[in-house]
Amino acid sequence: MIIKSAEFTVSNTQISKLPPCVLPEYAFIGRSNVGKSSLINMLTEVKGLAKTSQKPGKTQLINHFLINNEWYLVDLPGYGYAQSSKTNRVQWAKFIKNYLEKRESLQCVFVLIDSRLPPQKIDVEFCCNLGEKGIPFILVFTKSDKQGVVKSQQNMATFKKELLKYFEDVPEMILTSAETKFGREKVLGLIAEINTH
Ligand code: GDP
Repeated sequence: MIIKSAEFTVSNTQISKLPPCVLPEYAFIGRSNVGKSSLINMLTEVKGLAKTSQKPGKTQLINHFLINNEWYLVDLPGYGYAQSSKTNRVQWAKFIKNYLEKRESLQCVFVLIDSRLPPQKIDVEFCCNLGEKGIPFILVFTKSDKQGVVKSQQNMATFKKELLKYFEDVPEMILTSAETKFGREKVLGLIAEINTH
């Protein structure tokens, strides 16, 4: 897919104020610091479109970006920030649950996982929640340039094995790097494919 245009549309703290469900949308989510903003900027090739390195766990915003006037890329607030309070975490869970379960135009969730780490409980739990609700998702492993391919592949394989304890089959897994743009075509290709169905 060629990205002809990528524009910030709106930031929301309330589900009721999201744009109308007229275009397909694809949500990106993951633990704070997983590289979500960097990945969004890499995919759209707009530097600074999603704000990188903000202090995580602060304002919980759903950001909509309009891509090619055809679909929305949705930046969801990250989870698992160690210093966020319990109240914050409960609010996050409610907010996100509401969005994920009710958003009719949501086609697929891209769950970002740090390719350097062994399976993290919080990521596995998040995937299980999506699975239980029947929400389609794809796993995007980030920061692949930070270690050798073999190490990334090992971590992906272990994550797959972990998910297979809970799922009959695992979703698509894509290895990416915001630094080298590795995996960009694959992510955009999958979105294009879903959009044409
Ligand atoms: P977010 O909190 O998930 O939005 O994470 P950010 O995009 O702000 O990234 C967190 C940190 O990881 C920043 O210092 C980024 O520069 C770095 N980072 C993100 N993606 C990559 C990547 O693919 N490769 C490398 N080397 N660093 C990355």
